[in-house]
Amino acid sequence: MRRPIVIPGRQTQGMAIIIVLTVMFGLVLSVFYQGSAAVLGPLETKYKVVVDAGHGGYDPGAITKQGVYEKEINLEMAKRVKELLEPAGIEVILTREEDIDYVPEGVRGRQSKKQADLNHRISLAAEAEADTLISLHLNATPSGRNTGAETFYYFDSEEGKRLAETIQQELIKVPGMNRRIAKPGDFYLIKNAPMPAVIVELGYISNPKEFARLRQSWYQDQLAQAVAKGVANYFGLP
Ligand SMILES: [Zn+2]
Repeated sequence: MRRPIVIPGRQTQGMAIIIVLTVMFGLVLSVFYQGSAAVLGPLETKYKVVVDAGHGGYDPGAITKQGVYEKEINLEMAKRVKELLEPAGIEVILTREEDIDYVPEGVRGRQSKKQADLNHRISLAAEAEADTLISLHLNATPSGRNTGAETFYYFDSEEGKRLAETIQQELIKVPGMNRRIAKPGDFYLIKNAPMPAVIVELGYISNPKEFARLRQSWYQDQLAQAVAKGVANYFGLP
């Protein structure tokens, strides 16, 4: 009469041990998996980049004689850069995906509106804890003679400088591009962003020849690839 009592007891004990071991193994496995995914996971995104399409909404940016707004090409370029960065394992957040600005109601005056708009873009990048902020623009001069892409960093930021240089290094490889270098600047966005930030002026829409190229798909693609390659190089990604 003892055996039937003892054996079920042992079985219950054995089951309990198996359950405890399974749970422990599961815990160890999940910790190990999460740890390794954060460091090595090939499909995990390791970096986060905010790409800002300059201007938008009330603010057209530079305007060409033909009535094309800088803000339109900036947005197209931001979308292209995002498309190229994401397969490289970089999470991309765009500051805008349509023709909008971030000026709160009641804010008046050119300077105050511009500052409020930029503040929103900066806090968007800060809240996202982005590793870098890339603001895309097009340049313009009254003479229309200048051409070429150039990248600006805040003069006091070493990492900003390194980011600007890696991007500029790729931009000068674009067919037909001149050889400008990354430059220090004191612009509001790059000064106030809490992470390495750059302004990429992708070219001069005031120059008729460059403007014609800037509207073409193949050239936009070349520029987007250069920016994406520069950002990937900055992070040491292949
Ligand atoms: Zn601009």
